[in-house]
Order: sequence, then C-alpha cells, then structure tokens
Amino acid sequence: MSKTKEIIQLPIMEAFYTIQGEGHFSGNSAYFIRLGGCDVGCVWCDVKDSWDASQWPKESVEEIVAKASAHPGRLAVVTGGEPLMYDMTDLTNQLHAAGFQTNIETSGAHPLSGNWDWLCFSPKKFKAPKEEFYAEADELKVIIYNKSDFKWAEGHAAKMNKDCLLYMQPEWDQSEKMLPEIIEYVKNNPKWKISLQTHKFMNIP
Ligand code: SF4
Repeated sequence: MSKTKEIIQLPIMEAFYTIQGEGHFSGNSAYFIRLGGCDVGCVWCDVKDSWDASQWPKESVEEIVAKASAHPGRLAVVTGGEPLMYDMTDLTNQLHAAGFQTNIETSGAHPLSGNWDWLCFSPKKFKAPKEEFYAEADELKVIIYNKSDFKWAEGHAAKMNKDCLLYMQPEWDQSEKMLPEIIEYVKNNPKWKISLQTHKFMNIP
C-alpha cells in the first residue's frame, strides 16, 4: 500500500520580499512569511489583524516555499502572528532544501518546533514564554513601551544563554518618548544594543 505524504497547510496573512528592518539582520534582504494566528494579546500590537487565523487563506508548505524561491534572496524570516502556534518542522525543512537560511521571530509563548538558523525571541508581558527559549535564542528583542520595561528586560537577559545578543527596541508609537531613555540606558548598560524598526523609516513593509 502506498503511503501518501500529509500535506501541511498554514494560514498566510502575507508573504513578501523586502529588507529586514529590525534586530541583528537589519539591512538584509529577506522573504517574510507572516502566519495568521496569535493568542498573546499585546495591547500595542501593530498586526492585530493577524490574531484570527481563520480569516487568512491556507497554503501548502510547497506553495509557500515556491513563492519564496521566486526571489533572489535566500534569507527567510518567519513571523506572525505567533508562528509557533504551528509545527514548523516541515516549513523549515523545505526552506532549507530550497537553500534558505531560516530565521524566526517569536514571543516564545508556544513550544519550539522547526529547524532554525536564527531564533529571535521577543517575550511579551501578556503571555509568559516557555523556558526552553532562554537556552535556544540567538537574539533577545525586548520591546520598550514604558520605563518599567527596562527592569522587565533585565529579568529576561539574566536567564539568556551566554551567546545571545540583547536588543531593546522602542515600541513605535512610544518612540519619541522612550528612545532618548533607551539611548541613555544602552550607554550605561553596554551589553544591550538598540534595534529600530528601520523599515518604517524606509517606508517599506
Ligand atoms: S505576540 Fe506579536 S502578533 Fe501577537 S499580539 Fe503580541 S505583537 Fe501582536
């Protein structure tokens, strides 16, 4: 009896080729795969449309990777929503097979799955992250919304593996108020770096 391979489908909110604006890979061309679905509930979320996965069309992993492969870059950034609401094994394996580097941006609120070349961990106050992300992350990215977030950021930094890069990023709408404070904080605490949403300055997605 022949065994047919299960077709994995994922809800795609949007997928596009652009420049990564944030964090360690800022400035690199990248194919973004934004999956629908998130149950973290950040009050300042700028992609609230992503929350309800049912409104986004599902695509097979083969289709997703074929569309990504149509562009010259070979860096894929999987984001959301919260991409780890789904098993990422098949998507990352097929992206690797097509020659992509696989990066993920996650809140860490769901179990880790998939084979990632770079894991950007961005914990949120609204849903506690799983412990495994402290050991696995390559990059900690803390969104700074108000002054209390500096202490909260240090609490996470203290638990990270020793190779993890530490970034503070102002929440976009609070940028004018918080960026001067972040600049001073990083000058006084040089283990941190600043991440800015440079794609918003470039007017690209
Ligand atoms: S984890 Fe991300 S997508 Fe989910 S609510 Fe927070 S900012 Fe929005």
